[in-house]
Parts: sequence; C-alpha cells; structure tokens
Amino acid sequence: MQSKIGFIGLGIMGKPMALNLIKAGHTLTVFDLNQEAVKAVCAVGAIAARSAKAVAENSDIIITMLPASKHVTEVVLGENGVLEGAKKGSLIIDMSSITPDVSKEIATKVAAKGIDMLDAPVSGGEPKAIDGTLAIMVGGKVDVFNRALPVLHDMGKDVTLVGDNGCGVTAKLANQIIVNLNIAAMSEALVLAAKAGIDIEKMYQAIRGGLAGSAVLDAKVPLILDRNFVAGGSIAINLKDITNVMNTAHEMGVPLPLSSQLLEIFHALKVDGKEKDDHGSIVRYYEKLANV
Ligand code: NAD
Repeated sequence: MQSKIGFIGLGIMGKPMALNLIKAGHTLTVFDLNQEAVKAVCAVGAIAARSAKAVAENSDIIITMLPASKHVTEVVLGENGVLEGAKKGSLIIDMSSITPDVSKEIATKVAAKGIDMLDAPVSGGEPKAIDGTLAIMVGGKVDVFNRALPVLHDMGKDVTLVGDNGCGVTAKLANQIIVNLNIAAMSEALVLAAKAGIDIEKMYQAIRGGLAGSAVLDAKVPLILDRNFVAGGSIAINLKDITNVMNTAHEMGVPLPLSSQLLEIFHALKVDGKEKDDHGSIVRYYEKLANV
C-alpha cells in the first residue's frame, strides 16, 4: 500500500533510502538543511517542504535519518519540528543511530500527543541503503511495527522487532561493537601479514573462505586494497556510536574492555585528521603503529 511519507535527513544513508521509497510508489515530502540533497530527490518526484513541521503536516508516516541524538531531538521536539505539525494517529520512525535514553524520551513525549513512534536504526552502510537491503532493528509496540513493516521492507531486507521503544537503538549500539571490533581485528591481522611481506590481496583470498571470512572482511578489504577511505561510515559517526556504546553500557553496569580500546583508536584517528574518512581507516592507525 502506498503511503504519504515524510523524510527528514537526506545524507549518505537517507538519500538512497528516500529514493527507494519513491521507487516503491510512495508520495514523499522531504526536508534537509542541505539544499543540494533536497534538489536531488525532488528531481525524481519528492516534494520539498520548508520545515520539519511542514513535512509532518503533509504526511502520515514521518521518517528521520539524522546524525545524532541532538539533531533528532531538535527536529522532532524543537521549534517548527515534527511534533508541531504531526496529526494525531501519525507515526514517526526514527532510523538514526541515537542513544536509547533520548529515543525513549522522544517516544514518551510524542505518545502524549497521540503519535506513535518506532526506533528503527539500520546496518549495512551506503551500499545496502542503495540496494534497499538494509538490516533494520526495530524498537516499539507490535501493532505499530506491523503498520510500518511494508514501508520498512521498501528500504531493508531483514526487518526485526527486537523489543519495546529504545530496544532498536540499543541493538544498533551492540551491532556497532561487532562491526568496529571486526575492522580493528582485521586491521591488526592485515598489518602483521603486510609487515611479514605477505601480499594483502593474497592474504585476503587465503582467509576469506575460512572462519576469518565475514561480511566486514568482504566489505572493507577491497576498499583498503584500493586505498579508498571515502566514507561510507565515517570515523566521526562511529566515534559517536562507540561513545554512546560506552556511556550506555556503563550506566547499565556492563564493562566493555575491548570497546574501550576501540574508543581510543577512534580518538587517535580524529586527532590525526581522519574524522571524515571511512572507519576502514582503522587500518591506517595500525599501519602507523607498525611503520608499514
Ligand atoms: P549524514 O551526515 O551523511 O546525513 C545527515 C543528514 O541530516 C545531512 O544531509 C544533514 O544536512 C541533515 N541534517 C542535519 N541536521 C538537520 C536538521 N536539523 N534538519 C534537517 N536536516 C538535518 O549522515 P549519514 O551517514 O546518512 O547517517 C545518518 C544516520 O544513520 C546516523 O545516525 C548514522 O550513525 C546512521 N548510519 C550511518 C551509516 C553509514 O554508513 N553512513 C550506516 C548505518 C547507520
């Protein structure tokens, strides 16, 4: 069924997700601070709105895909925000990776005005956003999830309800531990092999069919071989996620010794001016350490 959808946040991820919704036949009203991004999606049929409030006024389902907690809070609860324009019975789906406490707080505030909310962050990066095959982890009520499911399937392949509001973003934090520690482990291994004089392409071919093979290995090694560090998932975004991981885990009384190492690696890469580069840049941190 086609819906009137609002989409706010047309960045690396949001733009291809919005394009897939247009392709699926939905009517899309969009807003972003970046006018170039707005123009690109309007060129294929989206309607530009002047504010997040105007997006909500024109939509039954409002999707946000913004950098971090403060952006989502401002866009949904702030002046000229979604909540000012949303009709009773409309649905907000926040697909950004934000903290569970902020996500739950927003869900409570919009519920008080008769508006449903799901947190539905994604994994798979830009390539899967373009293909419409993202993994989507959802927090919220079952009936609200069922209402959103057809629209989420227009952007993703595996769409899983993991619990109540806040559980989707918590699952995403856990996901980020696995992805980034995999990149760090892979980087340690590749730098060791390179220092020993092994050709990295041969190393990759040798291990990818064994137990060390992974989606992370297949996504990142070809880019590293090409010395392509264009983000993708930037150091800045992953530093934000791992900072949120550590804060959330400590509040819950969960020590994360390996993730704390990861946080230091991300801070080192930031100081080294790599903030805008892809998180595959972790390999460059190890190359520097080992003088490879
Ligand atoms: P991005 O920085 O490329 O895009 C964010 C967009 O939001 C930009 O176009 C920006 O102009 C817009 N924006 C910011 N503040 C705004 C406001 N107040 N009003 C309207 N628009 C505003 O970020 P991204 O890489 O697309 O990531 C978006 C979210 O998805 C983040 O939470 C990120 O952690 C998560 N994510 C990213 C990746 C990835 O590989 N890039 C993968 C999975 C999840």
